[in-house]
Amino acid sequence: MTDQTVKTEEFEAKTDESYFLEARHLTMHFPAAKDFFGKPTKFIHAADDVSFKVPKGKTLGVVGESGCGKSTVGKMLMDLYHPTSGQVLYDGVDITNLSGKQRQPYRKKMQLIWQDPYSSLDPRMRAVNIVMEPMQNFGIGQNEKERQEKALQLLSMCGLGSEHALFYPHQFSGGQRQRICIARALATDPELVVCDEPVSALDVSIQAQIINLLKDLQDQLKLTYLFISHDLNIVHFISDEIIVMYLGQIVERGTMEAVWKDRAHPYTQALFSATPAFTAAEKKAKKRIILKGDVLSPVDPPKACRFASRCPYASDLCRSEEPSWKKVADNHFVKCHLYK
Ligand code: SF4
Repeated sequence: MTDQTVKTEEFEAKTDESYFLEARHLTMHFPAAKDFFGKPTKFIHAADDVSFKVPKGKTLGVVGESGCGKSTVGKMLMDLYHPTSGQVLYDGVDITNLSGKQRQPYRKKMQLIWQDPYSSLDPRMRAVNIVMEPMQNFGIGQNEKERQEKALQLLSMCGLGSEHALFYPHQFSGGQRQRICIARALATDPELVVCDEPVSALDVSIQAQIINLLKDLQDQLKLTYLFISHDLNIVHFISDEIIVMYLGQIVERGTMEAVWKDRAHPYTQALFSATPAFTAAEKKAKKRIILKGDVLSPVDPPKACRFASRCPYASDLCRSEEPSWKKVADNHFVKCHLYK
């Protein structure tokens, strides 16, 4: 069989006009233990060598269970964590080490929607002022009247009428609060929005409404999304491309269609098996994979497959050698020794 090994460089291809944002070898290690002199001796590997590009006007889904590093990656992109190593490129410009002032134009172009609409809104501010605040920070609009008009327009686009403008956060439901968060994220006319588990704190009945709103806004405003979620079904619904993360590393990547159709990594297969089946045929075909074994510690993990402690196919090779990237199809890649 032909060796389908793929060099990491293939994922960090030169930025072209079809991509805004590129993560190159992003790595985030947090100190886990220190010696007598305060020098770190052990590290939590929250993200290791994470590289991807976010296609313009589309959605890149990032999926994985809690602790896999997906939110850490989002925070590095948004400059909330400074990476231990690696680069963040925007339109081909390395923005990783820019000073606060130099980074400002990129902050305007990239916005974040947080997971928790309860704690991310200032309880003392009215909805309209919450949406106006980023405009004031970035000097958008000629005056307060203009900013207010734009804030009302954004609230309306997000499904909240002018009658809601003067309400405080506690007067809204969870779904309505997330609508305010979305309107606030759009206040700077961003090109790219990082959505970090935007519906996981909401009731299932409300989740679909928010996801549909995000899709409509994407079409209307030509937005690009990086959509982080632990829920493969939601990621499937909204994403054009997907990366699957496990314990700080990407283990599978490709177009959503290709990965959904032919899940290559045993971890992706287990994630998929836990999603609900909707049709009789799906119910018949689907078999739940229960993962046994413990999740490996993220503290200085061995140079081997990090999924080996839970993988039903693990071999000695998996426990002693880190798998390289293999090509499953033109638009589909996996990091697993099962593929040659
Ligand atoms: Fe399982 Fe081995 Fe593949 Fe890791 S490399 S996912 S342990 S088969």
